[in-house]
Amino acid sequence: MPRKIAAGNWKMNGLQADMVELSKLAADHASAKVDVLICPPATLIAGCKDLPFQIGGQDCHPHESGAHTGDISASMLADAGATAVLTGHSERRTDHGEMDADVAAKSKAAYAAGLKAVICIGETLTEREAGTTLNVIDTQLAGSIPDTATAANTVIAYEPVWAIGTGKVPTLEQIGEVHDHIRAKLAARFDDGADFSLLYGGSVKGSNAVEIFGVSNVDGALVGGASLKAADFSPIIHALEGTSL
Ligand code: PEP
Repeated sequence: MPRKIAAGNWKMNGLQADMVELSKLAADHASAKVDVLICPPATLIAGCKDLPFQIGGQDCHPHESGAHTGDISASMLADAGATAVLTGHSERRTDHGEMDADVAAKSKAAYAAGLKAVICIGETLTEREAGTTLNVIDTQLAGSIPDTATAANTVIAYEPVWAIGTGKVPTLEQIGEVHDHIRAKLAARFDDGADFSLLYGGSVKGSNAVEIFGVSNVDGALVGGASLKAADFSPIIHALEGTSL
């Protein structure tokens, strides 16, 4: 069975003072019935070690060490206390020109460091409007996921680029179509493809989380803006748990 995961991506947000939000979240969700993964900026990872959550990086370099000024390796993230890392987030693909092969290399580096890779894929609005969404997804799945991926070391996050940070959310039918398609592709390629957790990401909020989590093959969410404040993220965790506030 896929694990249920509520993941928060803080992006380039978060100072030491914002750690109070994680303390507040911990007060309500120390024994969550689902996995809670927080991906703060790298500067805050070491300070998260006493929190009852899984902690992830937002990116890693494909190499373990070396002359790569400003980058961070998967083993450094693990050393700081992370157990996971996002790879291939659309903002990395857009801002840093990351291609599928880069995402696969970073994911392999994550495995080598003992981290779970949360591999992000998703179509642009132009691709959706051109009717090529599933082709784009196929190309990204084939190119971004290493052959050594397993349900234990990899999570897939489907994040339509046009839904990230925009307040626009695909219809439940659109989400279901893509998630069912991803599940079928994973099942065809990997022995344990039925067990990979598939997260939806893109403008998830407390107000839409219950209906999104009701869609087939949605095992959780990758949440940006609504993960920054405990008051916003907590209802999403409750929605995934199926518990009331
Ligand atoms: C994200 O950063 O992965 C994301 C989905 O952002 P938001 O929830 O703000 O759309």
